[in-house]
Amino acid sequence: RQAAYAALRDVEPRTLDGTRITVMMNAGLRDDVPMLNLTGADGIGLYRTEFQFLVSATLPARERQTRLYREVLEAAGNRPVVFRTVDIGGDKALPYLRHDDGNDEENPAMGWRALRVALDREGLLKAQARALLEAAAGRTLNVMFPMVSEPWEFDAAKAVFEKQLDFLRGQKRMLPEAIRYGAMLEVPALAEVLDLLAPRLSFLSIGTNDLTQFLFAADRANPKLAERYDWVSPAILRFIRRVLKGVEGHAVDVTVCGEMGGRRLEALALIGLGIRRLSITPVAVGPLKELISRLPLAELSAAMDGWLLHPPADMRAALVEWAAARGI
Ligand code: PEP
Ligand code: MG
Repeated sequence: RQAAYAALRDVEPRTLDGTRITVMMNAGLRDDVPMLNLTGADGIGLYRTEFQFLVSATLPARERQTRLYREVLEAAGNRPVVFRTVDIGGDKALPYLRHDDGNDEENPAMGWRALRVALDREGLLKAQARALLEAAAGRTLNVMFPMVSEPWEFDAAKAVFEKQLDFLRGQKRMLPEAIRYGAMLEVPALAEVLDLLAPRLSFLSIGTNDLTQFLFAADRANPKLAERYDWVSPAILRFIRRVLKGVEGHAVDVTVCGEMGGRRLEALALIGLGIRRLSITPVAVGPLKELISRLPLAELSAAMDGWLLHPPADMRAALVEWAAARGI
C-alpha cells in the first residue's frame, strides 16, 4: 500500500491540455495529517475540528484545541489547511453539550447543529476562534463555517473571530499573517443568495454529502436510500454549475469537499462542469491525480456542457462510455 502511494505521490494533477487541478485531502484527526506527505496532496481542504470534540469525554479546553491546531499546521508545513469550525449536534450529538430542552430532535440532520449551535453557544465559538488564531500566529489561517444557510450567519461567525483578533492585538500577541474566511455550501438556500455573500468570502466549499441529502430530501444515513439518488445526476450537476455561476466575477475559490469528489466518475463530472479544486478522502488522492493527468479537459467540458443542457437518460452511462472511448 505504501508503495502504491509513493508511485502516485509525485504525479502532478494537470490535465492533458495543461490545466492544473488542485487536489487536497480531508482530515479530522492528528494522525491523518501524515497522509499529506504520503499522498502528495495540495493541502487539507477540510479539517473536521469536531473529531477532537467527539473523541473527548468533556468539552476540549481551549489550550488543547490550540495545541492540536498548531500541530496540524506544523505538520502541514507550507501546504494550506482549511479548518472547519465544529459541526456537532444533530447526529454527532455530544453528551456534554445538550440543548436546553433536551436533545431529542425528529430530524437531527436539519436540526440544531454546526454553526447554529456555535452561534447559540457563543462561548464555544469564541474559544475555538481564539485557539485557531493563536495556533496560526505568523501563518495564514483558513477558516470555514459549516451549514451556513443565510449570509448573516457567516457575518456573525466572522465577527466572533474578529473580536478575538482585536483582543489578541490589544495584548500585543503575534497574530496570523492573513485570515481567509470561507463558508460551506451544503444548504441549498445559500445558493440562491450567493451574490450577496460572495463579496465577503475568500472561498466557498461545497459539501456534497449534506447538499445531496437536502436537495433530494433523502437522509444520507438511511441505507434504504443509499442507491436511489446518483451523485452523477443532472439535478446535482446543474446545481453545482449554478453555484459556480453565482460567484463568477468574485475572487472566491470554489472547492468540492464532499465524498463525491473522491469517486472516479463523480470527479470527472465535477471537473467537466468547471470545478478546479477538490478535497477528498486521502486514499483517493493518488488515483485522482493519475486520472487527471490523462484527461482531455476541453473535450470533457464540451461534452458536459451538452449533457447539462440536454441530459442523457443515464448520465452515469454517458460518462462511462465517454471515458471508455478515450481509454481513461
Ligand atoms: C459535506 O456535508 O459534504 C461535508 C463535507 O461535511 P460532513 O460530511 O462532515 O457533513
Ligand atoms: Mg456536512
